[in-house]
Amino acid sequence: MKLGQKHSIETKLKMRISMKGIRSLAKHPAWLGEKAGYDAKHDWAREHLQLTNQCQLCNSEENLTWANLSEKYQRISKDWIKLCCSCHMKFDSGKIALKINGKVFQRELSYFTRAKRKDSSSPYKGVFYKSGSGRRKRWMAQIVINRKPIRLGVYFTPEEAKMAYEKAAKTLVPKPEVFEI
Ligand SMILES: [Zn+2]
Repeated sequence: MKLGQKHSIETKLKMRISMKGIRSLAKHPAWLGEKAGYDAKHDWAREHLQLTNQCQLCNSEENLTWANLSEKYQRISKDWIKLCCSCHMKFDSGKIALKINGKVFQRELSYFTRAKRKDSSSPYKGVFYKSGSGRRKRWMAQIVINRKPIRLGVYFTPEEAKMAYEKAAKTLVPKPEVFEI
């Protein structure tokens, strides 16, 4: 398995997050910006949004970004949290969960599968064409956890490979660490 030929997944996430933070989020309807706080109910939230210049998780003051909690991108500030790039990445990739006022926010842990080969025509996530053609086609199942590809064997049908992948997804994927804020 050749890794490192392209941007690593973490770099990609980093780029995505920083772009989110700088470009799209500022234009996003949920971004309250200077107009935040028109609603008195959100006074606390306004302070939270505007005056927090620290990562809410690790207190870093560098590379701060807004992370959305509910994935609904609501126009309320308590749906957002300021996180540094590193904590944002961990949250977005599901490595950590955040517990805020008793509520746990958590992303599905992304266990990345390798990009599909052009000739694979694999119908399932984590299932790749291995070798052979026609009825002698073989399928490989693979899961990538924390950037480490784990081979799950070669199968005669994509369905068998899919089962291996799903089993691995259930058993091998680690549970995120929960941080209370
Ligand atoms: Zn942080």
